[in-house]
Amino acid sequence: IRVENLRKTYKMGDNLVKAVDGVNLDVFEGEYLIIMGPSGSGKSTLMHLMGCLDRPDSGELYIGNVAVSKLSDAQLAKIRNKMIGFVFQQFNLLPRLTAIENVELPMIYAQVPRAIRRKRAKELLKMVGLSERMSHKPTQLSGGQMQRVAIARALANDPQIILADEPTGNLDTKSGEEILKIFSDLHSQGLTIVVVTHDPEVAEQGDRIINMRDGKIVSQEVRASVGNA
Ligand code: ADP
Ligand code: ADP
Repeated sequence: IRVENLRKTYKMGDNLVKAVDGVNLDVFEGEYLIIMGPSGSGKSTLMHLMGCLDRPDSGELYIGNVAVSKLSDAQLAKIRNKMIGFVFQQFNLLPRLTAIENVELPMIYAQVPRAIRRKRAKELLKMVGLSERMSHKPTQLSGGQMQRVAIARALANDPQIILADEPTGNLDTKSGEEILKIFSDLHSQGLTIVVVTHDPEVAEQGDRIINMRDGKIVSQEVRASVGNA
């Protein structure tokens, strides 16, 4: 992921909030990047821009060699669905669907045939330790279990990038540690992982920590060097 001078401003009444204010950043292939900073510093907005969930006011974003601003909304949705998996603090599962149906959803959008998508969803739920919970609805699951379903869903279309916004923010210590272990395993398998967090223990896993303030990156700490962009 290459971020070039990205800007995103929100209007709040008469005020303009520069949520992301000229950010430059290369996320390397296979890197585990942590984004920290005070509440309101622009972390979520930056992550939404990197994940093509939102478009910047100016600047450019590259996913691989693709310049995102040149893409139509439909092309953008396709890249997002194929290349990027999202994990959110509130899990964002669909409450009416079972665990396995939630995991299948991104594959339905990608028009994966039913039998293949069932099989893959089962494998993914097994991988996150939820074989026994596949037919449960989200309300029948604990927070940690819901987050594991969300991770399985994020992996459904075999993305190269996982973007996670406070993934352990609503979890007890033990469940949080289980989620971190899964991220660490995915990182070992070569996925690029970007995690927004307030928690220093979460940050400890990262190859690099960047700190944001007022929409800007103000510092970074490299913990382990990773290959090329
Ligand atoms: P963080 O994730 O670091 O808490 P955010 O990216 O959520 O920061 O927010 C950065 C700033 O942009 C904050 O001042 C926030 O209130 C504002 N902001 C974020 N999203 C919106 C939005 N959709 N509409 C208006 N203001 C927003
Ligand atoms: P976080 O805890 O990750 O900073 P927030 O609770 O700040 O998340 O924001 C959650 C969602 O609400 C985000 O999608 C963000 O863009 C949006 N948001 C944040 N601040 C505002 C705001 N002032 N007005 C409207 N939407 C906002």
